[in-house]
Amino acid sequence: MVDTNKEKNFIRCHKCVMPTTLPSVKLDDRGVCNNCNYYEKLLTKLDNEKEERKKKLDELVLWAKKKKRPYDCVVPLSGGKDSVYCLYLADKVYGMKSLSITFDNGLLSDHAKQNIRNAINKTGSDHLIYGPNPKEMMELYGLFLRKTGTFCPPCMRGIEIVSKMGADMFDVPLIIKGTGARYSYLARVPELFQNGDAAFFSRVVENEKLSFNVDAMKQFTVKWDLKRIVHLSTALLRIPDPTTPRHVSIYDHLGPSYDEILGTIKKEMGWTEPSDQVEHMDCKASKIASYAQSKKAKGLSDATCKNSSLIRLGSMKRDEAMLYEKNYNDENKDPPNLDWFLCQIGMSRDEFEGSITDWRTIQSFRDDRGSLLNNVYLKLYNR
Ligand SMILES: [Zn+2]
Repeated sequence: MVDTNKEKNFIRCHKCVMPTTLPSVKLDDRGVCNNCNYYEKLLTKLDNEKEERKKKLDELVLWAKKKKRPYDCVVPLSGGKDSVYCLYLADKVYGMKSLSITFDNGLLSDHAKQNIRNAINKTGSDHLIYGPNPKEMMELYGLFLRKTGTFCPPCMRGIEIVSKMGADMFDVPLIIKGTGARYSYLARVPELFQNGDAAFFSRVVENEKLSFNVDAMKQFTVKWDLKRIVHLSTALLRIPDPTTPRHVSIYDHLGPSYDEILGTIKKEMGWTEPSDQVEHMDCKASKIASYAQSKKAKGLSDATCKNSSLIRLGSMKRDEAMLYEKNYNDENKDPPNLDWFLCQIGMSRDEFEGSITDWRTIQSFRDDRGSLLNNVYLKLYNR
C-alpha cells in the first residue's frame, strides 16, 4: 500500500504510522504492524488485570511503609510529566515519604528545573540532585554518538545509578518510576531503542581513552562481597533479594490517560508545559535526539514512534499523525540547540550527520554479543 507523493517509496502500517523502512516493522495481511498487534494484546491484558495490578501496587506500598525506614520510596525526578505524575502518586495518593532524585545530565532546561522545584514544593518529598561533571558528560555524549549513533545512553545510565545510589544511601525499600510497558513505545523498535543498562554502557566505554575515570557510571565490578553473593543466589532461586530495593513502573499498575496525567500535574503539582509544546523539553537536547532518530530510516519524522503510540492508546487520530509526517521537512529544520550542543561535545555538523544515519552501529554493543557466561552473569546482576 502506498501513501502519497513523498511517501511513495515505502509502506506504513495502516493502523499507526510506522514505516517498513525499519527492518523490525513487519505488516500482517491486513497491513497492520507487529507493534500494533503486540500493544493491542498488551493493553487488553493490562485492562483485564487492572484490579489485580492496582492491588499489587497497594500491597507494595503497604509493605514499604511497614519497613519504617527513613524513606518509603525513591522517585527519579526529571521534571518531565511522567516523573512528576509519579511523585504526585507517591506523595499525595499513597502518602509515602519519598526521596526524589534528579540526575543532572548537564542538559536540564530551566523549564525543567522550575517544574522540579514546583513539584518538590507541592509535596513533602526530600530532594537530591546528582550530576557528574558536565564536561565529562559532554565527552560521553560525543563518544556514544560517534560509536553508536545515539547520545542518550549515558543519561539513561545516570538515571539508573542515582536511583540505586539514593536507595542504598538511606536503605529505601522501593524505587517508583514514571514508566511502564504501555508507554514504552521504543522498547520494541531495536533500531532506535537503547536503555541505560550497565553491560551496554561498559562495552561502549571499554578501551576508550577518556579524560576521566568513568567507573562511577559503570557501577559494575567483579568484586565479591556478601551482598553480591546474596543477590546472585536469590536471582538463581528466583526469590526476592532482601538487600536490594524493589522496582515499580507505575504505569504497569495504573493506566491514567494522557489528558488525566497532564490535568493532574498542572492542577496539583504546579507543572507547566513548555511553550513550544515539545515533549521531553526537560532536556535541552531532546529534539536533537529525536532528529537523530528520524535519520535512521526513511519515513521517520521526529515524532513517528510517539504519534504511533498515541494512536494505539486512542489519544490521536491516524489522519492527524499522517498530516504531521507529510508536513515534516527535516532537511530544512535544525532542531533547537543543535549548534550549541555540537560545540559542547566537540563535533562538527558533518561528523554529526554522518554518525546518526546508520542504526546498525548500535548493534555490536548489544547484550547478545558477549560470551554466554558473561551474559548470564550480567543478566543476573542487572535483574
Ligand atoms: Zn502499527
